[in-house]
Amino acid sequence: MASSTKYIFITGGVTSSLGKGIIAASLGKLLQSRGFSVTIQKFDPYLNIDPGTLNPYEHGECYVTDDGAETDLDLGHYERFLNIPTSQSNNITTGRIYNNVITKERKGEFLGKTIQVIPHITDEIKSNFYKLGEEGKYDVVITEIGGCVGDIESLPFIEAVRQARWDLGPNNFLVIHLTLIPYLKAAKELKTKPTQHSVKQLLEAGIQPDILVCRTEHHLPQDVKKKLALFCNVQLNSVIEAMDAETIYDVPLLMKKEKLDERVMTKLKLSSKHNTELENWKDFLGKLKNPTQEVTIGLIGKYVSLPDSYKSIIESFVHAGASIECHVNLKLISSEEIHNDNLKQKLNELDGILVAPGFGERGFEGKIETVKYARENNIPFFGICLGMQVAVIEFARNVLNLKDANSTEMNPETAHPVIALMEEQKRIDQMGGTMRLGSYTCELKRSSKAYSAYGKTKIQERHRHRYEFNNDFLKEIEEAGMIATGKNPETGLVEIVEIKNHPWFVGVQFHPEYKSTVLNPQPLFVKFIQAAIDKKLK
Ligand code: GLN
Repeated sequence: MASSTKYIFITGGVTSSLGKGIIAASLGKLLQSRGFSVTIQKFDPYLNIDPGTLNPYEHGECYVTDDGAETDLDLGHYERFLNIPTSQSNNITTGRIYNNVITKERKGEFLGKTIQVIPHITDEIKSNFYKLGEEGKYDVVITEIGGCVGDIESLPFIEAVRQARWDLGPNNFLVIHLTLIPYLKAAKELKTKPTQHSVKQLLEAGIQPDILVCRTEHHLPQDVKKKLALFCNVQLNSVIEAMDAETIYDVPLLMKKEKLDERVMTKLKLSSKHNTELENWKDFLGKLKNPTQEVTIGLIGKYVSLPDSYKSIIESFVHAGASIECHVNLKLISSEEIHNDNLKQKLNELDGILVAPGFGERGFEGKIETVKYARENNIPFFGICLGMQVAVIEFARNVLNLKDANSTEMNPETAHPVIALMEEQKRIDQMGGTMRLGSYTCELKRSSKAYSAYGKTKIQERHRHRYEFNNDFLKEIEEAGMIATGKNPETGLVEIVEIKNHPWFVGVQFHPEYKSTVLNPQPLFVKFIQAAIDKKLK
């Protein structure tokens, strides 16, 4: 393993949802601002090979990387904060670890041996811990361990972390434990006991955390910090307070104030290459918190009861809105509740309409009605993936008068399959990892809205879908006024459609939201918000 790379492991205790991903991303950002090259990886303790087959209701959005990996949504935070791409190597699950080990066993790589959790599974975990570090590109690799200490599923990961200390040596290895300090209203007291217990659990597994990051709703008084240090066996200045923040984008600055980066650097014997003041980050926060205008945009989808299902889209609006000092008041609306008799009531107050990605029939007709409303009433419209497909279907049904036009996903028998499966997809019989995934090139027409957003003709965006625009209908659709303004130059697949006589109507087959970062807001989102501002001012 690359001996110069430093490894930081982040574990979680007391409860889930404490925001390990945000803490990891914030620490990564701070170290990056001091001149270190950093990457972050997540190890998830569930048995799926990847989260691609998980219902968004259960696990939130599935995030897709350039290389086409279907990953945990925390990788989205890593990219949005660090502004560098991640890959398949950045997200490993228990399922993948076991799959690798069992494949090796079948190949005879362990011939003669009994395969066991220790050492075979833990060795496989460790070799994945070190994989990105071995590329030699990174000064620091941060590894987030999913779940909570004490979970049965996490045990092999925790054991691998324990062993890693001995592989890596004392100045190259650090454990940060993220925990919760609950506040008991009735007693008016912050309680340290749950943290003491979760650190005890780590100690039982042979791991002494070096730094405690304590999520709390109230400032931690010195005596509480002292108690935590004493009982959890850490230095007093390694008890870091993580107060609830107004926005996740405040967390890097809060952690800087609490000197998390300094503590990490001291313990890992890292000396700062430089210390930028995070000027562009602060500039972004300034604009985010002091908008000069506001628009209301509707996100129409079927997973709206769990906003994490649309995490990257929601964050894209934050980045793009801030870049033009506009607060986007995003309304998540269930397409199942939209019918042709309540359209006005549901959509009237919106300055822009986004139809979200999705799978399956539920809520589909509501999406069709929504697109029709946006198209006929000149409301800025942005369709992403399924949203673009719905736009094509609506256009075929209501403009071309092909009443049964559909995607073969929704109706395999339709006489007018304007969205259909590609030949390659027809042969596929497994669900996991078999969609069109990852980054593909798209060539833009110069006369398009897309070109005016990107300012160049060749772009790369990420995909996650099975069905495609059916080019058999292209001529007819274009003649009626919906233009394919972006195409894959190799395959001729339609990637973007726009309606000529509409203020802003853009549907994209790819997922632009995956590439939006704080420092690089996604251009289509920026232009869509601008179109919504223009509509509102009219
Ligand atoms: N269900 C559609 C397809 O598979 C769209 C997928 C999506 O929106 N990500 O093509």
